[in-house]
Amino acid sequence: MSDKSNVPSSVTEEVEQILDGLTLEEKASLLSGEDFWHTQPIVRDGETIVPKVMVTDGPHGLRKQAGRSDHLGIADSVPATCFPPAAALASTWDTELIREVGVALGRETVANDVAVLLGPGINIKRSPLCGRNFEYFSEDPLLTGVLATEFVHGVQSQGVGTSLKHYAANNQEADRMRVSAEVDERTLREIYLPAFERVVTEAQPWTVMCAYNKLNGVYAAQHHWLLTEVLRDEWGFEGLVVSDWGAVRDRVASVVAGLDLQMPADGGRSDALVVNAVREGRLDEADVDACVRRVLHMVLRSLPALDAGGEVDFEAHHALARKAAAAGTVLLANDEVDGAPLLPLPTDARLAVVGELARTARYQGAGSSKVNPTRLDDALTALRTEPGVEVPFAAGYTIDGEDNGSGTDAAALLTEAVEVAQGAETVLVFLGLPASYESEGYDRDHMDVPAEQVAVLEAVAAVNERIVVVLSNGSSVAVTPWRHLAPAIVEGWLGGQAGGSGVVDILLGAVNPCGRVAETIPHRLEDNPSFGNFPGELGTVRYGEGILVGYRWYDLAKVDVAFPFGHGLSYTTFEYDDVTAIVEGVGTGTKVRVSATITNTGRRAGTEIVQVYVGDTEAQVQRPVRELKAFAKVGLTPGESKTVDFTLSARDLSYWHPVLRRWVIESGEFTLAVGASSRDLRGVVTVEVKGEPIVLPLNSMSTVNEAIAHPVIGDELRSMIYDSGVRKDFLSMVGDMPLEVISDFGMAGMTGGDLTTLLARANGC
Ligand code: BGC
Repeated sequence: MSDKSNVPSSVTEEVEQILDGLTLEEKASLLSGEDFWHTQPIVRDGETIVPKVMVTDGPHGLRKQAGRSDHLGIADSVPATCFPPAAALASTWDTELIREVGVALGRETVANDVAVLLGPGINIKRSPLCGRNFEYFSEDPLLTGVLATEFVHGVQSQGVGTSLKHYAANNQEADRMRVSAEVDERTLREIYLPAFERVVTEAQPWTVMCAYNKLNGVYAAQHHWLLTEVLRDEWGFEGLVVSDWGAVRDRVASVVAGLDLQMPADGGRSDALVVNAVREGRLDEADVDACVRRVLHMVLRSLPALDAGGEVDFEAHHALARKAAAAGTVLLANDEVDGAPLLPLPTDARLAVVGELARTARYQGAGSSKVNPTRLDDALTALRTEPGVEVPFAAGYTIDGEDNGSGTDAAALLTEAVEVAQGAETVLVFLGLPASYESEGYDRDHMDVPAEQVAVLEAVAAVNERIVVVLSNGSSVAVTPWRHLAPAIVEGWLGGQAGGSGVVDILLGAVNPCGRVAETIPHRLEDNPSFGNFPGELGTVRYGEGILVGYRWYDLAKVDVAFPFGHGLSYTTFEYDDVTAIVEGVGTGTKVRVSATITNTGRRAGTEIVQVYVGDTEAQVQRPVRELKAFAKVGLTPGESKTVDFTLSARDLSYWHPVLRRWVIESGEFTLAVGASSRDLRGVVTVEVKGEPIVLPLNSMSTVNEAIAHPVIGDELRSMIYDSGVRKDFLSMVGDMPLEVISDFGMAGMTGGDLTTLLARANGC
């Protein structure tokens, strides 16, 4: 089956035949689930006309509930491989690996007789506090979109579907079922929609799941602009829109808006509303038919793969999960102590391990994505199974900070930690967030690791300066308060069921780290651009920072950060040479060819992630200093060089024009920066681009400044003003005055008639 999942024509024909024979009641019944996880079947006189299929979470493993059902990860599910959640997967920046994980997920989906895996979740990380950040990829729309596209290709290559979620502007858990995200269109188009757009246009996910929240006052489930005008009419989405579980408030309005399938079942209530609305002439049956067609398509296209079934090689999937966990681990810092970096650990290292999280792995977040893993690796066991590595261990703290009531346990744990640290050459201190800190359904209220864990680090660092901190968390934590105590910091994120062994592969140097952070790690929560506007209040959240999300803000405002977007170290070093950028074409046909030569200048084979950032130095609107527009993963042996080429399109240089309501590429100077993070730019080239003329329509409330910048009437207006004896410096005082006021005052001798003529000429009528 093609992984660009266009619906085969035989399916389309069958859909039409089935649709022709359905009663209105049967059609309406198909528009909601049979139960929590199944679509509704149609059975007549014992004959199945339309089979039911199962859909299941997602995203980083299958959560197929065989018994009791819920959407919050409470009841059990069948064992499945728990791959690293998206936060870790995204830190790999590895398109091939993510496709491979997608293929494995697709196989498990087919083998479990499930038609659609409910993922990937691709909401932008607006704030580090969002409770579901572990399930989302990045603060950057390009990185999110490129990686999620591969995920979808991978799963769907197995003949089953995905559900791109949560569409759109679901960037927090607080009040998620009701809150209205107030976002201007430019911000939506440049930050919150592009990842959806890319995945839809490049991979055609079988389904898109609408968000719970409202967007600018309208529930996403009922948002015609979102679900039909943008998703289908502009982007050409061919699949089905499913509601998030329980997201539909007005079923009839949602059918009109383009929401095909309401999940889960609601006892037939919404089906009856649909039938009545059609009978009473409030809903066009053609709208119902459109939804039914898409449900039928989704069901029928899954049957060949489900009928064929398949086996899962869980050993191989565990090995893949380990590879992905190592690839997503980010070496944040690796300072020298006694003349050498602490990592990788030498084979004869005399280690001590401190921290309960080394023994009790935290490997995924809570909520609907919670997978029942087939196995679970913890770092302590993984270290201890390495031949020749002896590893004394002290828990140091309890994960949820409980000290069993007496207060003495915490002190005893601390003492024990100090003792093992004293006797070791190097101490691995495992810190991170307790499971209760990160979950679907609520957000964090701070970025700190628990104080009792920091206390352990402080005590251990007081007796041993060779400290490696290993972190387990699904979204960034504040490292600055204790950064000075840890020469080396390894960000393991939530690494899935093989996270423990994956992180050990990095610590011991079996794998050379090449993960890069997909989100900025700020010094303080207060530095984050959404601070003060997150998570909103009284049912509304204002996206006041607009397009300045993540590094777009930190770089513009020159805010120092702990670790910048795209950062990550390796056990080798890379040099960048010959960074070039050449512009070809003009206007919307512009292309920029960027290239750079990368050399491995260290002593180990390694992989560099080469990042290309674009900056538009002068524009009519505010633009970020730089935006990621391309990246590539380059593997190099010691001494080896490779030239990497990128081609950027006009869209990569464009912004969404809020007045013209389309993408525009302005003329002028652009910078193309190639580097190893948004703050580690190794080559910057400035080019001149010949964009498109941007002419805004004028009206009587257009200002003098706007009118004198107009290509048709600008000069004439300027002379009118000067000829009337107005001093040149007076212009700056009247520059922001509307033309109508100028003519009302009779300034510059302008009459109402003159104004009408000028405007008609400017607007070409
Ligand atoms: C979540 C979705 C999930 C669905 C089904 C909802 O609460 O937001 O991501 O797919 O439940 O479990």
